[in-house]
Amino acid sequence: MSYRVTLIPGDGIGPEVTNAARLVAAATGVTIDWEIAEAGEKAIASEGTPLPDSVLESIRRNRVALKGPITTPIGSGFRSVNVALRQQLDLYASVRPARAIAGEGTRFPETDLVVVREATEGLYSGVEHWVDRDHTAAESVNVVTRKASDRIVRFAFELARREKRKRVTAVHKANILKTTGGLFQTAFREMAPRYPDIPSDERLIDNMCMQLVKKPEEYDVIVTTNLFGDILSDLCAGLAGGLGVAPGALYGENLAVFEPVHGSAPKYAGQDKADPVAEILCVERMLRHLGETEAADRVFRAVWETIAEKKVVTYDLALPGYTQRPVTPSSCSAMAGEIARKVPIVNPEAPLPRPWAVGHAQDPHLEG
Ligand code: NAD
Repeated sequence: MSYRVTLIPGDGIGPEVTNAARLVAAATGVTIDWEIAEAGEKAIASEGTPLPDSVLESIRRNRVALKGPITTPIGSGFRSVNVALRQQLDLYASVRPARAIAGEGTRFPETDLVVVREATEGLYSGVEHWVDRDHTAAESVNVVTRKASDRIVRFAFELARREKRKRVTAVHKANILKTTGGLFQTAFREMAPRYPDIPSDERLIDNMCMQLVKKPEEYDVIVTTNLFGDILSDLCAGLAGGLGVAPGALYGENLAVFEPVHGSAPKYAGQDKADPVAEILCVERMLRHLGETEAADRVFRAVWETIAEKKVVTYDLALPGYTQRPVTPSSCSAMAGEIARKVPIVNPEAPLPRPWAVGHAQDPHLEG
């Protein structure tokens, strides 16, 4: 069977890591017909807009996309392509698993968390303005709706049930943000009793940050609003080995876009230096979504063995303090080549130690 998938290479390190991901996808033998759709800086140059309609149309048509990171200019200029894409396609659930691969690159080898972030509203609603003509005061509107809160909370509980996870924790700031935070909190409190098999609790965002860096092993599924989810998913990625190894997925009703947690890391652009693992694990999740379980298992196993061996790894996995023995960093393309080389020869059924032994992510839209 062959699949047509939209590919957005993105900006900065995006083209390098998406090329790496394509190399590994090709090594699985699954036929993927990539439909290239440029968004971001290249699209501004060629079409005058960072998010041409053709990109949205391509994703709607194919229903599955692999995306590289896209730069958002700070301050003036275009709105974030990432935020616009999520809103226009109603990709409401951003799922960001943080699991330490082979216990490497981290001080917390037991980390096994999933951040489920509402991705269409909150402080990213894009409603903001200057209060006065001199631009000495500004306001941003924090949009929280009952509908979006209910569906993201339900998504988190369903994910916890499917993946047999031990607990769902809602993170908010309802003590200060009494209406917006309070509405999200109410949605959570009214949904939780419908899932009596899944323990649940709540944390304020500030306390949650402290708890996570002290004892990440005590948490499991975290569900939260847009801004808190953005911050917590980077924090959790750091616990699990860094942005270089943190994949992610965005889900709408009938669409899935796979993109890493990391951004375009402009300082590494064009240097063949960035870690390709996050984007490669996006391919792994995408293959699972497509029902190509064995291919996904092979990709995961090849990533695992490459990281565990530590012969051909990028700079972020070779940093002193995170590795027992000195490692010479390899390039992005060399690491991708090593993973691709292993894909056909690994044993995808060999047992893995915890936390990976508990099973792979189950995709919510496989049957839809
Ligand atoms: P970033 O994630 O691009 O980089 C932060 C740091 O993390 C880098 O300097 C680097 O040290 C490390 N890093 C990131 N990816 C890595 C990789 N694959 N391998 C090794 N190290 C890696 O965050 P930033 O610098 O804050 O943002 C840069 C741009 O990316 C901004 O324009 C931002 O808006 C955009 N961004 C886009 C997305 C997205 O497309 N989904 C997400 C986050 C940020």
